Amino acid sequence: MAVVLDLLKDDPRKKSESTALRHPEKAHRPDNPIARKPDWIRVKAPGSPKWAETHKIVKENGLVTVCEEAGCPNIGECWEKKHATFMIMGDTCTRACAFCNVKTGMPAPLDPKEPEHIGQAVAKLGLTHVVITSVDRDDLADGGAEHFAQVIRAIRVASPKTTIEILTPDFLRKEGALEVVVAARPDVFNHNLETVPSKYLKVRPGARYFHSIRLLQKVKELDPTMFTKSGIMVGLGEERNEVLQLMDDLRSADVDFITIGQYLQPTRKHHEVISFITPAEFASYETVAHAKGFLLASASPLTRSSHHAGEDFARLKAAREAKSPR
Ligand code: SF4
Repeated sequence: MAVVLDLLKDDPRKKSESTALRHPEKAHRPDNPIARKPDWIRVKAPGSPKWAETHKIVKENGLVTVCEEAGCPNIGECWEKKHATFMIMGDTCTRACAFCNVKTGMPAPLDPKEPEHIGQAVAKLGLTHVVITSVDRDDLADGGAEHFAQVIRAIRVASPKTTIEILTPDFLRKEGALEVVVAARPDVFNHNLETVPSKYLKVRPGARYFHSIRLLQKVKELDPTMFTKSGIMVGLGEERNEVLQLMDDLRSADVDFITIGQYLQPTRKHHEVISFITPAEFASYETVAHAKGFLLASASPLTRSSHHAGEDFARLKAAREAKSPR
């Protein structure tokens, strides 16, 4: 899972308290000053009546969203359109990535009622497309694969017309887990690489770059009709050539859709922003990605893997159709 954040208020006391509670493993780290955002990074403030409606449904159903947990900067815009990304299997992650604001620690047992609650919420919100993500559950024998499958099936029952996109962990060392999730037939399988391989040790230390590439490749081998998607953050110190190589690696795994967004630093204890990538550089990445054969590419400062996911799913289908008309 992975979404970057931005919304903690600028009170340094609040930030350090919050970091100590949410990320005990980061509490001893030296502070990384938070850089001022450039003018091109501006977001819509949350709080409109439609945002409040989405908020109410989320709270009434006791749901966890990555929009809130990761402090996503797009929450004002997305929730106004009733687009929320549900985070299943609790709010506590067993990994401790340097960029992510989701709470870390030992998670609670799975809630067997969660699949049903998610299905009901999707139906109540009237979603045409839903994105489901999760925390990493390295503590579970199957990494949570069966729970993912149950959630997909529950949504199919409660809201049969809704298309389903999942954003999964890497299921590292969880033999057979991927097969269980793919067999539940989500419409889009997303797994984020997050960054280029040279940054893994510092940014995503619990993960393995080529395992993630192979995971995406295996999805296509298991079901060639399933759309696959992956995303990265830029501004973590990567070189442009490394991003271009990563695109080639994803294309070798036959991945359909790449998303590229600006990394924003959640707290002083998280990885620093090394650079703010300009809108022109993002546009260039998008052009190159299309040239490399992705069906779809989205690259902009505020691109997040679940941002505009519904509209993008329609574009993905249209792009596949245009490429190989029946
Ligand atoms: S971009 Fe994704 S995580 Fe962020 S608010 Fe929108 S749906 Fe939620």
